[in-house]
Amino acid sequence: MKPDSQPPRVVPVLVPMPADRPYSYSVAAGMQVGPGSIVRVPLGPRQVAGIVWDGDGGSVDPKKLRPIEQVFDCPRVTDEMRRFVDWIADYTLSPPGLVARMLLRAPAAFDPEPWIEAIERTDAAPDRMTAARGRVLETADSGLAWTRSGLAHAAGVSSTVIDGLKAQGVFRDVMLPPRPIVAAPDPSYATPQLMPDQESTAATLTEKVSAGTFSVTLIDGVTGSGKTEVYFEAIAAALMKGRQVLILLPEIALTHAFLERFQDRFGTKPAEWHSDLPPRMREKVWRQVAEGQVRVVAGARSALFLPFCELGLVVVDEEHDPAYKQEDRVYYNARDMAVVRGHIGGFPVVLASATPSLESRVNALSGRYARVALPARFAEAALPDLKAIDMRRSPPARGGFLSPILLDETRRTLERGEQALFFLNRRGYAPLTLCRVCGHRFQCPDCSSWLVEHRFRGQLVCHHCGHNEPRPEACPECGTLDHLVACGPGVERIAEEAVGHFPDARIIVLSSDMLGGVRRLRLELEAISKGEADIVIGTQLVAKGHNFPNMTLVGIVDADLGLANGDPRAAERTFQLLSQVTGRAGRTGKKSLGLLQTYQPEHPVMKAIVSGDAEAFYERETEERQRAGLPPFGRLAGIIVSAATRQEAESHARALRRAAPAATDIQVLGPAEAPLALIGGRHRFRLLVHGERRTDIQKFVRSMLAAADRPRGSVRVQVDIDPQSF
Ligand code: ADP
Ligand code: ZN
Repeated sequence: MKPDSQPPRVVPVLVPMPADRPYSYSVAAGMQVGPGSIVRVPLGPRQVAGIVWDGDGGSVDPKKLRPIEQVFDCPRVTDEMRRFVDWIADYTLSPPGLVARMLLRAPAAFDPEPWIEAIERTDAAPDRMTAARGRVLETADSGLAWTRSGLAHAAGVSSTVIDGLKAQGVFRDVMLPPRPIVAAPDPSYATPQLMPDQESTAATLTEKVSAGTFSVTLIDGVTGSGKTEVYFEAIAAALMKGRQVLILLPEIALTHAFLERFQDRFGTKPAEWHSDLPPRMREKVWRQVAEGQVRVVAGARSALFLPFCELGLVVVDEEHDPAYKQEDRVYYNARDMAVVRGHIGGFPVVLASATPSLESRVNALSGRYARVALPARFAEAALPDLKAIDMRRSPPARGGFLSPILLDETRRTLERGEQALFFLNRRGYAPLTLCRVCGHRFQCPDCSSWLVEHRFRGQLVCHHCGHNEPRPEACPECGTLDHLVACGPGVERIAEEAVGHFPDARIIVLSSDMLGGVRRLRLELEAISKGEADIVIGTQLVAKGHNFPNMTLVGIVDADLGLANGDPRAAERTFQLLSQVTGRAGRTGKKSLGLLQTYQPEHPVMKAIVSGDAEAFYERETEERQRAGLPPFGRLAGIIVSAATRQEAESHARALRRAAPAATDIQVLGPAEAPLALIGGRHRFRLLVHGERRTDIQKFVRSMLAAADRPRGSVRVQVDIDPQSF
């Protein structure tokens, strides 16, 4: 038989597009490909990187069949990882191609890292010595290889001296493999002395790791109880078993202190993974994780899609944090997907929080997850005293937002040489600007939201789409000059008020839109830890995990802020956030105080925080959710329909609703305008599908989508399984 008479082999390739299934490609004779190979394939007029998927290539008209162009010289995507992609696609109702795209985000990493050109010493001696040559030989005496410029620099000579020596055979060329970005962590580098509580918790975790099977353990421990210290022991156990470890953190870009702490324990930093990483570094991390050189990654939620080859433990720190939910293209919760990853890989997952999500808590109570508790702070550190300030009885001065009680306590704190934190989860100067004469309000032209004044930048900014305009002097409506008023406070305005009261204090404002970005924020956080600020005014950025040893007063400027929006999850969220913020105080044994400014001190959230009775609060919330059949006692899915016009969005949402199959255990609510009815010029309607705990909500939504007409024109449909707000 002639070789060209044989039909070519055909394989399925998942391409990073919103494709519902892999496409078929032919394989040239002799090309080594199998499931998991990363390949370059033609797609329309372009070439893209895709992953050879499982199953057969399907039947395609041989004339339309196009060939795989190249197989990248890179480790194959593991069986585990392919199942993970399929699972997420199925669960979130996303095209598998879009999920695969999250895995393929470091294209340059598919080619091997180049080797480094270097030189090393031979036995030959130079024909004559000079002072410069002497310095080079002395420097190079270590027997290691050097780069030409590195050696010249170290010896303090020009590169031509090196070239001269090379010409005489004193050095020869060698190629060095790329250097690992981080050294191997040493599990016994600095083992801690654990307290009895911590010891038994750590033992539970290390047992799970040695068992080497799937399990989920929730570490429920107050801030400062040593959760990190304890899960480090689980990490050490996994490393000793030769497994890779992933630590998920909600604000990885700002966790410099965490990396250093890891280094103190393991002798080296973990590799970082987050969106602020320079592209070159991303590629190195991706490649070295795939090859197994990187053993531990500390990353944001997207690190779940790194191509680990020997993953054996995932830790999700601050597991309740809303930052774990991605709401862009593929809507997923990284905490839940970490559990799925552990299930598929057959290894333990550890969740840690001082204020666990209701979901995790219920799972722990029902026995699906194991739970270990750390009820006390480490050493002598006591939790802060917590009090509510009733703002009706102790109102701030006219035009201000800080009550006399908070100001008094701040004065005392500063007199003792300690630090105070004012927390307000609102960026900018004021959330609303209006004209005192005609009542004109400044609104974003593309979103249903007010423009927020940022006084330091002199701008009005939309916090949803980024639209910004200079703050005018005159009202655009009635033309009156100098009659625009700022309504309500943002952190900048609180800073202005604080300066008025404490003109000599060193004040730092921390919010995510600060000029200078992450680098600047890191520096500021370090400065605060070192005591180089007296008053810190910040948004939720300051809530997360930082250790400020000298901070003994936390004032919550508006404790009611998060409760206003009528979302059933608002109480839980507010409780978690306020507990976390007040937990910044008193981490080193000094007496500390947390003050909550509120107009509703009788609200269960305020009472729970002030009394420290988290258990009672959780029980009440759990009961309420159970009564209403809300998660985790029921299932929810959001369907968001957006379009360029309100009419298109609404009519497609109505059509979807009509397409809902008849079911007794599932209700469809809406369509109603989405909580943000207009974002970036797109009008949004939302349907909410509500089912009992055991209903197959995905199946129901799938049949709705299949029965309705395909979205046309500008209409887009986005499914959100387990939505954050409901
Ligand atoms: P959490 O993660 O629960 O907030 P951490 O692990 O950050 O708690 O611990 C709080 C502080 O106490 C840290 O500064 C940590 O270094 C210290 N600490 C906790 N346990 C120990 C221990 N057994 N030995 C020494 N220091 C400890
Ligand atoms: Zn906008």
